[in-house]
Amino acid sequence: MNRRGYVRYLRESDSNQPANAPPGPQTFETHMNYRIPFNKPCLTGDELRYVADAISRGHIAGDGVYSGMCRELLERELGAAGVLLTTSCTHALEMAALLLDIGPGDEIIVPSFTFVSTVNAFVLRGARPVFADIRRDTLNLDEAQLPALITPRTRAILPVHYAGVACEMDAILRIAGRRGIPIVEDNAHGLFARYRGRYLGAFGALATQSFHETKNLICGEGGALVINEPEFLDRAEVLREKGTNRSRYYRGQVDKYTWVDLGSSYLPSDILAAFLLAQLQNRTKVLARRKAIWDYYHHNLRQWAARFGVQQPSVPPHCEQAYHMYYLLLPSLADRQALIEHLRARGILAVFHYVPLHLSEMGISFGGREGACPVTEWASDRLVRLPFYNDLTESEQNEVIEAVTRFEAVPRVAAAGSPLQAA
Ligand SMILES: *Cc1c(COP(=O)(O)O)cnc(C)c1O
Repeated sequence: MNRRGYVRYLRESDSNQPANAPPGPQTFETHMNYRIPFNKPCLTGDELRYVADAISRGHIAGDGVYSGMCRELLERELGAAGVLLTTSCTHALEMAALLLDIGPGDEIIVPSFTFVSTVNAFVLRGARPVFADIRRDTLNLDEAQLPALITPRTRAILPVHYAGVACEMDAILRIAGRRGIPIVEDNAHGLFARYRGRYLGAFGALATQSFHETKNLICGEGGALVINEPEFLDRAEVLREKGTNRSRYYRGQVDKYTWVDLGSSYLPSDILAAFLLAQLQNRTKVLARRKAIWDYYHHNLRQWAARFGVQQPSVPPHCEQAYHMYYLLLPSLADRQALIEHLRARGILAVFHYVPLHLSEMGISFGGREGACPVTEWASDRLVRLPFYNDLTESEQNEVIEAVTRFEAVPRVAAAGSPLQAA
């Protein structure tokens, strides 16, 4: 159904509905007009039962029974000093900036190839972002650039584990550790992925997770702050509870609660935590399913990719990835756009990803200029992500693979000057 047809359908189906019925099906682009969408939020089993139970318990504000169970599960699995559920990964990043006392004049080092929140949370406190380029193989922060980017004002380094494949944490920790610079991992893509056997999110002083509906384990909107340095625990609780010591009050450690620090309201409803608990409990099943989808794409697109100079994702042997997405790097921007259009015409939604932050309006205002992060610019133009969700059926995936391998607009190898061919 095309957009106009869909709008008419909505209107007609509305007229048969009682006046106060909720509106018809999804109306945003990822779900409309496409037989095979890019993403679908998928249930794993107990979500609705847990949500109903949370409501029947009569505590639907934050830090109820289900929040506590999510917290315990994550703390135990990650071996963290503490985990606090938050309303989003963005808010967990804002908490990290507050905990590190980031202020005007401070610098943070971030990859330009990331979501805006990785940077914005720190810019909100007055920091200046220093953009690092990414590696050509994993599209992760290029650790080799760090020594040249660090200054006496550097107050944090933010590795982003792109697609759930680990950054080179040994080198990053060594470089940062020598200078006493804290690391905050943006692990929105990589929950339960590992680097040399250890879970991502366990390396930085702090790490952040996302449970947004586009991530691997979801609750609609949600996140978590992972605290590995125990010195941050008490203050993190206060920041998250509007700058009050209410958490201590609930535990009976103080007899009234009061305003003690900066803060905001970063805790999610227990209804969302109930949904999330079901997802977290089914993490093994979700990861296995996503691995199967990823492996199937990777295997069945190999020949086509080699023939057309398309780069498939690369996962170093010491990284156990989280299978967050399946992407391809086309030889040129024109090829990438043509492939998206080719798939769209077949009812399949494939999407590009991050636009380089150093070339965004805000990035330019911080001195970003073209050519400053060449690999980021190269990847951003060429990357396309294929439909990827737990309920993707084998026949849907075969359709995607068949459509991709029929794309023959580019019977040549990678364009000259592409970093694919550079040394
Ligand atoms: C999704 C995402 C975020 C933001 O997550 P929210 O939970 O939506 O705030 C931050 N960083 C990265 C790398 C992401 O992919």
